[in-house]
Amino acid sequence: MASQDWIDIFQEKVMELNEEDDWQIEFDDSIKPNGTEPGWQQYSTKTFAWFQCSKCKRKWPSSRVMVVFHMKLWKRQRKGVVKVRQLCQDCKRCTAVPMEKPTFSADNLEILLERLIEKIRLKCYHGRTDGVKKPFRMDPVRSPHEPTHCEACLLGVCTKNEPGQANTF
Ligand SMILES: [Zn+2]
Ligand SMILES: [Zn+2]
Repeated sequence: MASQDWIDIFQEKVMELNEEDDWQIEFDDSIKPNGTEPGWQQYSTKTFAWFQCSKCKRKWPSSRVMVVFHMKLWKRQRKGVVKVRQLCQDCKRCTAVPMEKPTFSADNLEILLERLIEKIRLKCYHGRTDGVKKPFRMDPVRSPHEPTHCEACLLGVCTKNEPGQANTF
């Protein structure tokens, strides 16, 4: 999914909040999982995506793809910002290859951003949510997770959920 897809889907879904604030989403690989700046809130989740090695072109699926969002609303300026970081994986068959970004299906990207909007409703507007969450769609993953090829594992955040949350919502 190109970044424009994220922006388009996010802008469409953020309307559902029915708030007058302008929200924008931006990619920022410098945000730290579990390390928000003061005034920012985090939503992180584990989801399913595919990766492709830029060297050997091999593709692999993973059900442990961490996506981290940091969000902040400036009430007086009527402006909100979401920063997003997708944690990467690299190919286990190649050496000295770059970490690759995940590719999400259109369905899973929709679900991911829907969940993000619910989190904004809860955390930035103290709203309620019906707690219903659509599950991510998964393809079968036949090989075990490779901690040495997973950026989230290397950062020690791979299986962690948000404090007090029983699952990944
Ligand atoms: Zn490779
Ligand atoms: Zn991992």
